[in-house]
Amino acid sequence: MLAYIGLGSNLNKPKQQIKTAVMALHATKDVQVVNLSSLYQSPPVDDSKQPDYINAIAQVDTHLTPLELLYVCQDIETKQHRIREKKWGARTIDLDIIIYGVQVVASKQLIIPHPEMMNRAFVLIPLAELEDDLKVPVLGPIQDLIEELGEFQLTKL
Ligand code: ATP
Ligand code: CA
Ligand code: CA
Repeated sequence: MLAYIGLGSNLNKPKQQIKTAVMALHATKDVQVVNLSSLYQSPPVDDSKQPDYINAIAQVDTHLTPLELLYVCQDIETKQHRIREKKWGARTIDLDIIIYGVQVVASKQLIIPHPEMMNRAFVLIPLAELEDDLKVPVLGPIQDLIEELGEFQLTKL
């Protein structure tokens, strides 16, 4: 199954954090990173006084189930010393499952497609970089989602 994982960091050398997480994903049994977007920089969503974020999207080929893939992501976050403070607070690394094939998941632990993806340029733009004619399950063509975004601040690094 092809899945897309969103990576984000704004603490302790964010670019390095993302590289480390991508290598950890690739080193996981039954997970292969087949493509990686450019890195993108953007201000925090809530305009708080935290540092800018660096984000990227990894395309992975996996035999894991969505929930198994979530546990892999959480394990990598823990290994990279993510401390869970307040929601949307600064963090060393965040891995979100954005898309998992054509599957739709809606459970307590896991929602796929990611419920905020349509509101986030730092998800949609790198996704489109990897697959410009991607059809997102339920939400539709990626280019339509980007058109509906409105204004955004995002710098490709
Ligand atoms: P956001 O989800 O808005 O990007 P966040 O990434 O900061 O916020 P976290 O604290 O990292 O939120 O995650 C909270 C919970 O979200 C996780 O414990 C996980 O169970 C749940 N979750 C639901 N859907 C997903 C998904 N598609 N990918 C990753 N986590 C998810
Ligand atoms: Ca997130
Ligand atoms: Ca998350």
